[in-house]
Formats: sequence, structure tokens, C-alpha cells
Amino acid sequence: MPRPLGLRCRECGAEYELQATHVCEACFGPLDVVYDYDAIRRVISRARVESGPPSMWRWRDLLPLEDDAAVVSLGEGFTPLVRAERLGAALGLSNLWLKNDTMNPTNSFKDRVVSVAVSWARAHGFETMGCASTGNLANSLAAYSARAGLDSYVFMPDDIESSKVVATSVFEPNVVAVHGNYDEVNRLCSQLVDEHPWAFCNINVRPFYAEGSKTLTFETVEQLGWRMPDEIVIPIGSGCQFVRHRRAATELLELGLVDGDMPRLTGAQALGCAPVYRAWQAGSAQVAPVRPDTIARSIAIGNPSDGVYVMRIAEETGGTIEAVSEEEIVEAIRLLARTEGIFAETAAGVTIGVLAKLARAGRWRGDELIVAYVTGHGLKTANVVDQPSGRRVEIDPTLRSFRERVLA
Ligand SMILES: *Cc1c(COP(=O)(O)O)cnc(C)c1O
Ligand SMILES: [Zn+2]
Repeated sequence: MPRPLGLRCRECGAEYELQATHVCEACFGPLDVVYDYDAIRRVISRARVESGPPSMWRWRDLLPLEDDAAVVSLGEGFTPLVRAERLGAALGLSNLWLKNDTMNPTNSFKDRVVSVAVSWARAHGFETMGCASTGNLANSLAAYSARAGLDSYVFMPDDIESSKVVATSVFEPNVVAVHGNYDEVNRLCSQLVDEHPWAFCNINVRPFYAEGSKTLTFETVEQLGWRMPDEIVIPIGSGCQFVRHRRAATELLELGLVDGDMPRLTGAQALGCAPVYRAWQAGSAQVAPVRPDTIARSIAIGNPSDGVYVMRIAEETGGTIEAVSEEEIVEAIRLLARTEGIFAETAAGVTIGVLAKLARAGRWRGDELIVAYVTGHGLKTANVVDQPSGRRVEIDPTLRSFRERVLA
């Protein structure tokens, strides 16, 4: 089986051995995993992928583990890709698809990245995992650490949704509630990583962690019958996954697993935390940090580490970046539920809200193959839709009461 070769700086190209580090010593650029694509090309095929496990690990050849036995899995990935006929009809889109990542083991896209991070860390002798989180990452890391028999420290802002805290605490990690926002929590963790021999998902093991995101795009292409979408709508938090989706599409094209063109990659933010959208609007090459204030907590990152790369990729692929208001987020959650039977969290409300906004603004002819990534489950943020929207009637347990009150 092909093995990853090392790490390489995205900015200056400096190369490093495989190790727990994420910034270039020469220029402070981010480090990415380097693969031996010739070796991968010799073994990978559609048939090999299709005969793999019904999880994201069917893409094992393009994930950065040296040893197969090391995989820590709860069955993440290979989530449903569903054709959205009713939502599509509401938006004038005849070829719309939803990748339903609410169906992951801890109900968010984060299980993909965490499965890789925990597998890599355990195989390299780490005994303790850590993360700075807006909720979903903590939830996932706590579960996978339990599964792997590792200790974990999860650092979260102290005002995270209680549903996410409950779903995390049950795995008995060390929960550290920090009086501060995500960016402050992240800064604290960056200091801790120098003092403790821990594997922090989004810090020292980030190059490996990030690679797990690619499987969302790999699976989408496979589930479309080995076709590239024309455009993908992706939520932007740190921008980490956005960057990986282009890498995934590039790998599929270069390895000859699919024909066609690079999809347009379009990013979605909440106006209450839209640093990348604002920079895009202003035509600025830099992303100025903002103070987050939005119900889309899981993507409320005011200083997104990959923001500049997101803009570059949106531009180069012909995508765009759009943002929606708090009301539009809630309306999009309801629209998705009402038309497709999928209950998604606020981050997905942002994605579907942006999809709807762009469709109504006439971005598409209508027959393009568009995929939206629905990245987290609605029960994680159920509080935002606790005012019932459907019809509810109370009756006595009699036929008469039913006829009078329900049918009347
Ligand atoms: C983390 C997260 C995202 C954003 O991912 P990034 O890689 O940080 O951009 C989107 N949706 C959900 C539900 C998440 O938990
Ligand atoms: Zn460098």
C-alpha cells in the first residue's frame, strides 16, 4: 500500500519528515502531506475503491497513514448523497444534490478529520489528544479518543450550545470551558502545544487531520457515478476543508479516476462572522479578523487560518463567496427540513441559505450539477428552531374531538 512521503510548505516548498508539526520553520507557511502519486497510481482504481469498506477508509490510499492496522474508526463517511428534487424545484435547480454529513457517528463532518488525526497520533505514540473547538470537533474528538483508549482535553468557549456539551461530556474527556471566544481558545492551545506532548487536532497534527476532509469530495464523485459536479457549495469556518476539496478534486483528475473539469468551489459564511466574505467583497488580498456574533457557532471563526487560500481557490475555480443573515440561516434550516426531510444545524443553514440566495439571484441556468455539503445535524443546534413552525392541534381522545378540531 502507498505511504505518505513527508510534509511540504504550501508557500516556499521546504520539505520536512513526517512528524507532528504544522508550520514551516523558514517562512511560517502551512505544511501539507506529500504523497507518492506514482505509487498510488499503480494501485488505485475505481474497482479498488468500490470494494473497500463502507466508510471514508475506502479512500485509504489517499489518506496519510503508514500502517493499515492503525485506523481508529466508528464508521465515518460514506454518508448519503441524495438528489434534492423538491428543494431544487423550490430554487429552480433541476440537478441539485446534498451530501448528508449529518449521518456521521457524532453527526458532523468533523468525524472525517478526527478519525485521521486520532489514528495518526496513536500510531505515533501519542497518549493524549487535544483540540480547540466550537463544539463539533470536541464532540468528535471525545468520541474517537474513547474509542482509541486515549486521554483527551477539549477546549471550548464557555457559552457553547448545551446539546454539544452533553454530547461531548458523555465520553468523559477533560472538558475545559474557557472564558473567551474560539480565537482566544485557539491561541491558548497554540501555547499549550509547546508545553505538553499532546496531539492537538487543529495545531500540531493539522496536516494529517486536514486530509480527512478530502473524503467528502471523493465520496461525492464516486456516488455521482464517477462524475465531477459543476459546482460545490461549502461552509467556511477555518477554511481548512475548503482548501482540501480542491486538492481532492485535483487528485481524482490527475489519477485518472474521473474525467471532466475542476468544479467551481463556492464558499458560505454567516454575516455575523464573515471575514472571508468581507475580504472577497472588498477585493482584498488579506483577511481582516472579526469578532464572531452568529448562531452558526460551529463556523464562527473570526480569524480563519486558511481564509486567504479559500479566496484564491474560489477565484481560480470560478466559484464565489456569499453570506447570509441570521434569519436566512433559520429559514434555510426550515426549508431544507420541509422539502427534503433533513434536519441540519446552523452551519448547514448557512450553506443552504447561500445556495438559495445565489439561486434566487440568478447565478445558475438551472441544469448545472450542484452539490451542497450539509455538514452537521440539527439536534446540535435545535434551540434555533424551538418555535414550532408546522401545524399543531390539541384534542381529546375521541373521534368527535378529532373531527371537530383537526378536520374542521
Ligand atoms: C468545522 C465545521 C465546518 C467548517 O470546517 P472548516 O474546515 O473549519 O472550514 C463546517 N460545518 C460544520 C458542521 C463544522 O463542524
Ligand atoms: Zn515555508
